Amino acid sequence: MRKKITILIPAYNEEAVLYELYNRLINTIEKNTKCYDFELLFVNDGSKDNTVNIIKKLKSEDDRVSFIDLSRNFGKEIAMMAGFDYSKGDALIIIDADLQDPPELIPQMIELWEQGYDDVFAKRNSREGESFFKKWTSEAFYRLLQKLTRIPIQQDTGDFRLLDKRCIEALKLLRETQRYTKGMFSWIGFNKKEILFDRDARFAGETKWNYFKLFELAIEGITSFTITPLRFSAAFGSIISLCAFIYMIWVIIKTLIYGNPVEGYPSLMTVILFIGGIQLISLGIIGEYLGRVFNETKRRPLYFINEYNNVKVTPSDPEK
Ligand code: UDP
Ligand code: MG
Repeated sequence: MRKKITILIPAYNEEAVLYELYNRLINTIEKNTKCYDFELLFVNDGSKDNTVNIIKKLKSEDDRVSFIDLSRNFGKEIAMMAGFDYSKGDALIIIDADLQDPPELIPQMIELWEQGYDDVFAKRNSREGESFFKKWTSEAFYRLLQKLTRIPIQQDTGDFRLLDKRCIEALKLLRETQRYTKGMFSWIGFNKKEILFDRDARFAGETKWNYFKLFELAIEGITSFTITPLRFSAAFGSIISLCAFIYMIWVIIKTLIYGNPVEGYPSLMTVILFIGGIQLISLGIIGEYLGRVFNETKRRPLYFINEYNNVKVTPSDPEK
């Protein structure tokens, strides 16, 4: 039987690039791999522009195209999850719509998959069109994350990768609402293989990321993969308390020997403020985790779908 490969394309306001992306994808899959069935699965993540109409038009001309139209913008992580749920392939390739991930790498990925690798991920050599500051912050974040957790997190790797069906099924079991998919790829394990490529600048349109979102993703990455910050705040608190205790003993001895003049207001103030600050930081860290617990206990579905392949979808309980 012919194997089926799904190409998953999350798209949010990507009208400017879709035709070009489609052409390049079709070119690669037609030229290189005649022995597979392909499914181009677009996930329209609540775009406000013409994206969904372009996808529908592509679908009417080519029945390899299928699409999920989410009920609103859920973010790329969730859009990918919807794609995992609806993928029909024996393998799945995730690719950004903006052509920053060259589709020409796909045949090489498939070749490695045939050799038995379950997760073939593309690691970028260079990052064209990204500012020095973005590169630097990303570098610093990975170094920090790697220090805090024991699972190796791949640096300079996006979501551009081929995953075997086994990996997809594994990822489908991880249904937390606040997702850091890149960490999950590492967490599930299986046979990994990297290939190197040069990441291009965006073909057209604008990036949907800003520093606030990146910061959120960074917090997401840390809080969903390690509880080290909780321990860190406890350790830090203990050290401060120990110092405060030693200082207290010293103050008592001093008072016993030299009496008690009204001095000491500044030192008192600094200590109070310092400890107060540490308490607030620790509370903030606890709050960050507690918030996640709160969000997960609601057990909401990850997304709702408006249309799947031109058919309107009514939400229903998957367990019934
Ligand atoms: N994307 C999405 N939902 C969002 C934001 C982005 O599905 O809320 C998609 C977007 O259409 C693109 C991919 O995720 O296919 C990567 O987005 P972008 O190029 O803006 O991110 P960057 O490459 O700058 O990290
Ligand atoms: Mg991009």
